[in-house]
Amino acid sequence: MDFDLTQEQTALRDMIRAFVEKEVRPHARAWDEEGKFPFEAVAKLGELGLMGAMVPEEYGGSGMDTVGYAIAVEEIAKGDGSLALTVASHNSLCTAHILAFGSEALRRKYLPGLASGRMLGAWALTEPGSGSDSLNMRTKAEWKGGCWIINGSKMFITQGNVGGVYVVLAVSDREKGRDGVTAFLVEAGTKGLSTGKKLNKLGMRSSDTAELVFEDLEIKPGNVIGEVNSGFRDTMRNLAGGRISIAALSAGIGLGAMAEAIAYSKERRQFGQPISSFQAIQWMLADMATELEAAELLTLRAAYLKDAGRPYVQEAAIAKLFASEAAMRATIKAVQIHGGYGYIQEYPVERYMRDAKLCEIGEGTSEVQRLIIARRLIRGN
Ligand SMILES: Cc1cc2nc3c(=O)[nH]c(=O)nc-3n(C[C@H](O)[C@H](O)[C@H](O)COP(=O)(O)OP(=O)(O)OC[C@H]3O[C@@H](n4cnc5c(N)ncnc54)[C@H](O)[C@@H]3O)c2cc1C
Repeated sequence: MDFDLTQEQTALRDMIRAFVEKEVRPHARAWDEEGKFPFEAVAKLGELGLMGAMVPEEYGGSGMDTVGYAIAVEEIAKGDGSLALTVASHNSLCTAHILAFGSEALRRKYLPGLASGRMLGAWALTEPGSGSDSLNMRTKAEWKGGCWIINGSKMFITQGNVGGVYVVLAVSDREKGRDGVTAFLVEAGTKGLSTGKKLNKLGMRSSDTAELVFEDLEIKPGNVIGEVNSGFRDTMRNLAGGRISIAALSAGIGLGAMAEAIAYSKERRQFGQPISSFQAIQWMLADMATELEAAELLTLRAAYLKDAGRPYVQEAAIAKLFASEAAMRATIKAVQIHGGYGYIQEYPVERYMRDAKLCEIGEGTSEVQRLIIARRLIRGN
């Protein structure tokens, strides 16, 4: 067993760390306050190869493995959770779905633009009435006159307003349940697709989240991703990979908050001494470090298994569950260590705390992760 990063992975981590210090951390607070999507930073991440992290080079990507990608998402999240969410959803949800299941023609047409970051990807499963119970979706696709006609709506879609390409899940055969859902590739600007207003969120405020509405949206058969009616099975596989990125994002947010808390505890003096000399503060820091290290290791293990072509669904759910809850606990402690200053926006820890909350909700809530994990323990599959 080797816990060391390779030279390549260390170089990647250091490169992103330097980028985040220079181009992300100084702006994260303003982006959050204004709820402003950071197009420029995303374009720079594209130049660094991080918008096509796991896309093979032949389609214009960086061809990273999942371990390298997880390291990248964690490093970005240390500086800004919202930007890491943009990267994670673009890479792991939209782009990964097209790469894994799309036809060669779709891959050739869309992956280079997505991988460069010139085109942003969104992935639309959740609806106003169906989140955890995603199979209960109402959006339907009907085959009429040689085309698919899509009607319905989607909720909480990351890159909903800024996306150039959407992967949309719709019911194509209601009788068939999980074998009756199809994934469609929809280009922004297609007649029949409209986006609702940007949602005003608690955290992850500079990541773009919107509602999508489909009214007689016409999709050519060539834009079906994977087989007709295989969309739900493909989605479940895609989400398992996505959970590794949310676990990495969680670990990064927690570690970012911990670094702030350590620095503050050394500066802030009460009763004539730095608060870091109080055992109560030290214990909080020790608990944060312990849990976040476990979160990081669980994340890298799931990534390693995926890269090795071994089963990883259970490990990804465990990593996502633990890392997101560890990040929540760590960010709450970071606010506590800052006292009243933790509660105001001049200090970044309140933002880390708000951002961490999303990780317990998105790509399957903590309750859903527990269901996945327990089901596999009991049924053995
Ligand atoms: C900022 C943000 C970005 C998002 N981005 C995307 C995106 O890009 N694409 C996309 O498709 N979706 C996206 N989502 C949606 C997200 O995946 C859902 O919000 C999530 O799956 C939960 O669904 P819901 O909000 O409908 O909650 P519900 O499913 O209604 O859950 C409400 C509560 O009930 C609990 N619950 C539900 N079922 C069970 C059960 N069987 N057992 C125990 N407890 C249960 C849940 O855990 C939760 O606590 C995003 C959400 C947010 C907030």
